[in-house]
Amino acid sequence: MNEIETEVVVVGAGPAGLTAANELSDAGHEVLVLEARDRVGGRTRSDVINGTRLEIGGQWFSPGQDALIDLLAALDLKTFSRFRDGDSVYVGQDGETRRYRGDDLPVAERTLAAVGLLTARLDELAAQADPDDPGAHPLARELDALTFEAWLRAQCDDAEARTVIGLFLAGGMFGKPAHSFSALSAVHMAATAGSFSNLVDENDVLDKRVVGGMVQVSVRLAERLGDRVLLNTPVHAVDWSEAGVAAVSDGTTVRARRAVIAVPPNLYSCLRFRPALPGRRMQAAQHVSIGQVLKVQTVYERPFWRERGLAGTCFSPSLLVQEIYDNTGHGDENGVLCAFISDEKADAVLDLDEASRRERVLEDFATCLGPEAARPLTFHVSDWESDEWVRGAYGTSFDIGGLSRYGRHQTTPVGPLHWACADIAGLGYIHVDGAVRQGRRAAAEIREALARRG
Ligand SMILES: Cc1cc2nc3c(=O)[nH]c(=O)nc-3n(C[C@H](O)[C@H](O)[C@H](O)COP(=O)(O)OP(=O)(O)OC[C@H]3O[C@@H](n4cnc5c(N)ncnc54)[C@H](O)[C@@H]3O)c2cc1C
Repeated sequence: MNEIETEVVVVGAGPAGLTAANELSDAGHEVLVLEARDRVGGRTRSDVINGTRLEIGGQWFSPGQDALIDLLAALDLKTFSRFRDGDSVYVGQDGETRRYRGDDLPVAERTLAAVGLLTARLDELAAQADPDDPGAHPLARELDALTFEAWLRAQCDDAEARTVIGLFLAGGMFGKPAHSFSALSAVHMAATAGSFSNLVDENDVLDKRVVGGMVQVSVRLAERLGDRVLLNTPVHAVDWSEAGVAAVSDGTTVRARRAVIAVPPNLYSCLRFRPALPGRRMQAAQHVSIGQVLKVQTVYERPFWRERGLAGTCFSPSLLVQEIYDNTGHGDENGVLCAFISDEKADAVLDLDEASRRERVLEDFATCLGPEAARPLTFHVSDWESDEWVRGAYGTSFDIGGLSRYGRHQTTPVGPLHWACADIAGLGYIHVDGAVRQGRRAAAEIREALARRG
């Protein structure tokens, strides 16, 4: 067994763990990062597929995500805007394909008014929320006892408006059906993005990308740490006491004064904590689960939709493919589309054999953008649900009643153990910006604790 001593051990080399490690290293502390995979970046990843670089995981950021924006500048990473010039496409519940411009969906006036009312109500509730303390919302208990779907039904009798608003959060953020997370979780999600209006505005939430891919954030942070990042080192046990911590992987044990556990909370149960974590923490982790989203990308010789005055942005509450965006890479001459299929619809797609899956998904692409969309050079579907080191997408959320009960405890240190992950963030929750904020918070806690104890 290889035994290593350091001051702080970080478990997980995603953006949260690597931010924490860099902050600590910059402050003069000795750190070592242990990463299970053979690469850094966690849920951010780029692969070259048939000659085109595709981002398989997290990629977009919005103008309000200033922790990430500051870090991009510090790492000298360049950014570019998502292509969005031209008409968008909406396929409504009547099955009609309609082109539109501007913010208003081309739906019946009554539906549009209902969408406006629901948006205003969610903005109002989000404005009363503290992103760091969801349980402190004045209506926390009431909202956390209701599924988001039930809350929508109680507010509005327009089915299309309910489906549209439900999808922004269900498919768009949680990767879970609207009947499986609470209205408080929905309000919390909106509060962590600044408002619900921000979340439904694709020009805000999907504003920009990083040249070379979002994974470059982790690659550059890891480069700064050099050999203080050990890949292919899955930690399977964490021994801890008030005196310190030992992170145990096959063949290597790292002893340290403090640890940052920078893995998603649905994986805490895969780490054997010795002694076990306090009961409340173990309970909290059991009320959390990860969503399911398929990110589908198609590559074409050129972005043909642009020639027809289309932005490549499509939205549909009735198709399997509920969102499509132009995802062409920086400076690329070919055209790339990116679509998302969420929760139960993702299950249905995964139940198909590979050929039928491709055919079924491309049928929806053609409905939105014409027959050419069904003839890509490359068809790629992400596979996060069978990735041992995350098990779903995009991130984790609480079951009904869990957020108000356990939400505030997620970041509280346990002895020498500190926690960092986008999934326990307030601002930037389940986004790379939240991972950066959490990495900074955990590092600040450790610096303070080490300074106190000398
Ligand atoms: C398909 C998809 C699309 C997304 N789109 C966006 C987007 O457009 N914009 C955005 O901001 N966010 C997006 N996200 C979310 C974003 O990628 C995550 O919020 C972010 O990567 C979280 O960072 P993290 O460091 O907290 O966790 P992770 O990125 O999950 O990193 C955790 C690390 O811990 C490692 N690990 C796990 N267990 C162990 C163990 N036992 N031992 C050692 N290491 C371990 C993992 O391998 C991983 O490297 C998307 C995610 C997915 C999956």
